[in-house]
Amino acid sequence: FDFLQQSDPELTAIIGRELQRQQDHLELIASENFTSAAVLAAQGSVLTNKYAEGLPGKRYYGGCEFVDQAEQLAIDRVKRLFGAAHANVQPHSGAQANFAVFLALLEPGDTILGMDLSHGGHLTHGSPVNVSGKWFNVAQYGVDPETEQLDYEAIRQLALKHQPKLIICGYSAYPRTIHFDRFRAIADEVGAYLMADIAHIAGLVAADCHPSPLPHCHVVTTTTHKTLRGPRGGLIMTADPELGKRFDKAVFPGSQGGPLEQVIAAKAVAFGEALRPEFKTYSAQVIQNAQALAQQLQQRGFKIVSDGTDNHLVLVDLRCIGMTGKRADALVSQVHITANKNTVPFDPESPFVTSGLRLGSPAMTTRGMGQSEFVEIANIIADCLLSPEDEVTMVNCRDRVADLCRRFPLYPHLNAAAAP
Ligand code: PLP
Repeated sequence: FDFLQQSDPELTAIIGRELQRQQDHLELIASENFTSAAVLAAQGSVLTNKYAEGLPGKRYYGGCEFVDQAEQLAIDRVKRLFGAAHANVQPHSGAQANFAVFLALLEPGDTILGMDLSHGGHLTHGSPVNVSGKWFNVAQYGVDPETEQLDYEAIRQLALKHQPKLIICGYSAYPRTIHFDRFRAIADEVGAYLMADIAHIAGLVAADCHPSPLPHCHVVTTTTHKTLRGPRGGLIMTADPELGKRFDKAVFPGSQGGPLEQVIAAKAVAFGEALRPEFKTYSAQVIQNAQALAQQLQQRGFKIVSDGTDNHLVLVDLRCIGMTGKRADALVSQVHITANKNTVPFDPESPFVTSGLRLGSPAMTTRGMGQSEFVEIANIIADCLLSPEDEVTMVNCRDRVADLCRRFPLYPHLNAAAAP
């Protein structure tokens, strides 16, 4: 903080308050995580000063010899991590990675088949408010109303009917294993490209805790900041080097300018961390913790979408207690728990209100918590949502959150109080 504090005390104070918030709250947003101090350091490095349009060894600017090395390190590490033949580490975000794939594979007016946003898909998978929904003819699948899981035969029927050029799997709010081989069989039957957007589960895939899409999909996109625990950013991978060249061109010059080399360096750090054995232990714990959370919430009478979880994510259907996601989100934040309201499949409420609360285990697992702490977290959430009018209960919940945060410190080398 020293340099920043001297030059900009106002902003330093804001960052200090955000650090304090992260340290004092239980972070249960399924798409968030806490990067290592090494990832933070790489992002704050002098690489931020460098323009490097192009790819390592083929740049449009001089002076790129060292950013070339950093970017090549990121590429080599991520290829090893996922077993990919080709990787582009330049997309600024997950949405940018998806857009580049569309630019490489599709023409406006082509048909795509993706999961409905309200069933757990992402905006970039064909939502009418996103370019994917504006430029393409969109067919959408959902989950089965009984199991709340993917129904591959229903997806196959939709593919046969709509004849998409691209099928998208991979989701923002789907707690179950994805069978990429079954998607590939459907794609082959209709002659479609298959794209897996593993933004949420990338860390689990990297750690062999979820089947890999690489052998089955024409292209795999992801963010680098969720279960993968890197800096905010995107990534495109493929097993097909020829397709890889098309994705490279679609990223630059197709849809981006200069790459963020400081972020790419931080990706290299995160990929290096994910290659270590500890990351497998961490990822297995992420899943065990999510399962402990789901089971204890079920014990306390809550309905969990799909009756459980295979990954890092738990979707609570609050209709069982007559509460909306919006109200639940506001209530848990009163006891210093950060989560997000989320639609549940076939949700009668609008996306601004919703009937669900999405919870995730990656961030608090990074802080070192295990199953017993996640059982306690489930109990705090249950106490808070079942007795919101009882001030004594709410104070007790806040105290228990504070106790957990104290026992599992975050960034102890950073001192929020040092900020003015
Ligand atoms: N794809 C999926 C499945 C996601 O869940 C998200 C983000 O939540 C994205 C893409 C977009 O990533 P970004 O926010 O980095 O653009």
